[in-house]
Amino acid sequence: MKKVIVLTGAGISAESGLKTFRDSDGLWEGYDIEEVATPQAWERNPALVQEFYNMRRKSVLEAKPNAAHLALAQLENKYDVTIITQNIDDLHERAGSTNVVHLHGIITRSQSSINPDLTYPVNGWELKMGELCELGSQLRAHVVWFGEAVPMIENAAQLCTEAEIFILVGTSLAVYPAAGLVNYVPQYVTRYIIDPNIPVSAGSGIVEMPYKASIGVPMLIDELMGID
Ligand code: NAD
Repeated sequence: MKKVIVLTGAGISAESGLKTFRDSDGLWEGYDIEEVATPQAWERNPALVQEFYNMRRKSVLEAKPNAAHLALAQLENKYDVTIITQNIDDLHERAGSTNVVHLHGIITRSQSSINPDLTYPVNGWELKMGELCELGSQLRAHVVWFGEAVPMIENAAQLCTEAEIFILVGTSLAVYPAAGLVNYVPQYVTRYIIDPNIPVSAGSGIVEMPYKASIGVPMLIDELMGID
């Protein structure tokens, strides 16, 4: 089976009701990211950071996969598909995709605040101050904050070098190192981008589909399913 690598960003979940980030002037649900998504923020005010991610978890649990997530899951019937997502939601998995790499973690899990390798499922939407990992440290959301290492990046880069078809969906390509992954895809590989605002850094020779994900992704998947 041909190997398809898909890199998704916040835009694919926008029509499921989860707000993107750049579309709201660099704020995330009204917060400056420095206040809620950095190790310094956690040191300054862990309760605020915990509350912010509790709210994100609540929205994610209330959201449903949209036509774009569902179409990507269908692609597995004909291709060897890996989705590399920058999203912290679990909508790809709930749509049925079986091979998803979460570059920035996943909000439905918690992690130890002293050992990021210790992660646990969160029961419901709320992670409380006072809930501890097995080493006795406070549990935080299992997400990669700005300024933290991205442990999956090398694995993701390797996957990109192996792509036979490459698809970008709903990402501004502004957050590094994730944005640099496009450079690992060989130039001869057919590449597509689905985003109403195509970022310049998507590169030349890419097939531009300037549509919302719920329209553009099913359109492309229909086309790929029809190719022998
Ligand atoms: P971004 O917010 O920087 O960019 C969003 C992109 O989506 C833009 O290019 C925009 O044009 C496009 N877009 C908006 N609506 C769309 C639609 N209906 N269909 C297709 N595209 C659409 O997002 P990013 O590049 O993913 O980077 C932001 C970071 O913020 C990520 O690293 C992620 O971890 C985090 N984030 C995650 C979520 C989530 O998990 N759902 C939501 C917001 C932010």
